[in-house]
Amino acid sequence: MKSKKKIIMGLLAAVILAGAVITAPVVPFSVKAASETQPLSETQSLSETGKDIVVVIDPGHGGSNIGGQIPGLDEKNATLITALAMKEELEKYEGIAVYLTRYDDSELSLAQRPQMAAAVGADFFFSLHYNKAVPNRLYGAEVWIPSLGEGYSKGYACGDLILNELCDGYGLYRRGIKTKLNNKGTDYYGVIKNATALGIPSMIIEHCHLDNEEDVPYFNSIEKLQQLGRLDATGVAKYFRLKSSVLGVDYSDVQSTQIAPPQIPVMQDVTPPEVASIISAKIENGQIRAVLEGVDMQSGILYYDYSLDGGATWSALQRWSSAERRSTVTIPGGGGSLTIRLYNGYDLAAQSNTVTF
Ligand SMILES: [Zn+2]
Repeated sequence: MKSKKKIIMGLLAAVILAGAVITAPVVPFSVKAASETQPLSETQSLSETGKDIVVVIDPGHGGSNIGGQIPGLDEKNATLITALAMKEELEKYEGIAVYLTRYDDSELSLAQRPQMAAAVGADFFFSLHYNKAVPNRLYGAEVWIPSLGEGYSKGYACGDLILNELCDGYGLYRRGIKTKLNNKGTDYYGVIKNATALGIPSMIIEHCHLDNEEDVPYFNSIEKLQQLGRLDATGVAKYFRLKSSVLGVDYSDVQSTQIAPPQIPVMQDVTPPEVASIISAKIENGQIRAVLEGVDMQSGILYYDYSLDGGATWSALQRWSSAERRSTVTIPGGGGSLTIRLYNGYDLAAQSNTVTF
């Protein structure tokens, strides 16, 4: 616990130095916590009590594995800040024991992380990350889960509750609950594959995109990185139907999405949307008012972008706000032509017809 306090103190110092906004590099975690021994020594007390829900939080990356980088912030530090806050928040609930795979800047392999979860008898393993994409057009929060069996069902149920907090509650765009298989037809992500092999439900939470201005307001201070961890914790507390007298909440009635365990792997979507078209478009008060139609049976429509010059240049990605096939949108600028592209849950695009004015 001492090491954690030291880290928090370091973070507080960073907040003061940075004026609560990350404008300078986050203070590197020079604190040498007993990371080699702390999770495992706590194992022993855990196996003695043996009754609590056991959650292991894995701050992604660490050491020379920096993860995504933007000026002033390394993903490995962001994930640790979020993980520590998630742990602290979860510990306000009754009947839960929470461990981190690392409490400092230690470097761990993708095999070690789930092994540490197995060593403490984890009921769930959460690997925390922040996203970056090339090109840097994507924004929003997503959860990656195992593709098969109970791992899928539990991952989906819990991931849905976490995304409710991050998206409906906090405002991040919901990119969805996803699976990814490698070319052997098994889970692509190492921590998910290894956790599944050890019989531990798992997920990767990609909180938001570090390299997109749409998401910057959601993570650009220590407090916000911590808030994301607290939101994760609320989702987890709801999944396990926990109560907290400290927080004055009782989630014992929360219902989660129930999906029967798939017997064959749920594959990622590898095909673009089936339908992407402009149904109608007209110029009103110097703006284009268009009715768009999009269908993607497998992963839904996530974003659209538009071109007013026949596809030479494209707008930033816009939120597809409709749950229906059709969405009426207003596009700034008039004259010339309109072409749109619709993107599905896996960022694959289909281009529409072009309407000229
Ligand atoms: Zn990462």
